[in-house]
Amino acid sequence: MMSPGFTGSPLDRADRVRNDAEAYDALLGDWRARILGLDGLDPVVAADGGLMWHSVAELSGSEELILLGLSDGKPHFVALAEAEGDVFRSPAIWRALSMLPAEDAAIYGTARSLIEWHNGHRFCGKCGHLTTLFRAGWGRKCGNCGKEHFPRTDPVVIMLAEYEGKALVGRQSRFPPGNYSALAGFLEPGESIEEAVRREIHEEAGVFCGAVRYVTSQPWPFGGAQLMIACIVEALGDAITLDTDELEDAKWISKEDARAALENADSRTFNAPPSFAIAHSLLKHWATT
Ligand SMILES: [Zn+2]
Repeated sequence: MMSPGFTGSPLDRADRVRNDAEAYDALLGDWRARILGLDGLDPVVAADGGLMWHSVAELSGSEELILLGLSDGKPHFVALAEAEGDVFRSPAIWRALSMLPAEDAAIYGTARSLIEWHNGHRFCGKCGHLTTLFRAGWGRKCGNCGKEHFPRTDPVVIMLAEYEGKALVGRQSRFPPGNYSALAGFLEPGESIEEAVRREIHEEAGVFCGAVRYVTSQPWPFGGAQLMIACIVEALGDAITLDTDELEDAKWISKEDARAALENADSRTFNAPPSFAIAHSLLKHWATT
């Protein structure tokens, strides 16, 4: 079974207590309750290599909390937070994510997605009035028109086009030197997964594609909550016409090239995406099956 990044959270999401004020207060008053430690929106790695947690006693009382879930009955919360600048691009977060155990990265991903959603939904999309957090942090409610808003996940397709045993990878100019990844893009309204896969490959690399095969999915918590849907698609030819606004380069790689990159071998012809990115899981799946 594949285990893409940001999956495998051990927490019981405890939907049943989100609307139950009494049960929620009992969790908040539980001496075992833990609050996720964050640096802005970045994860903080504790001495044991996992996420840093604090006790409720360390709260000032003014925090707005989200109930992330329960583990052995022990409640886990995160407080809403703001970040300065483009924190995802910081080398610190990249390092932290490479170090965290998969379960902790999944908890962090959930927290980060929810915090970013709250930060972007302070005002009602229907009437423009202020909204307030409700349902233990799994929603916001408008103080004026009463409309309830719930966290959303945006679907993104990420795919390898395959032609005669080779796969298409590309790089954006903002990638570190030598890094290549699977092509990706947001699904648009009115599109199926298959249509989005074929459209994105054609837009970015000029390659026409046919049959699409679903491989796996993973949440991606940066810049809003996204669901990355990984696919392999049959290319109908190998001529590349780059959209240079999207990609700096694209090329066809062999399974041997992919394996060398994933193993970080000296013979590698490109650098693979980090292990917590679904492009890594997708390349590995393609190269080893
Ligand atoms: Zn409203």
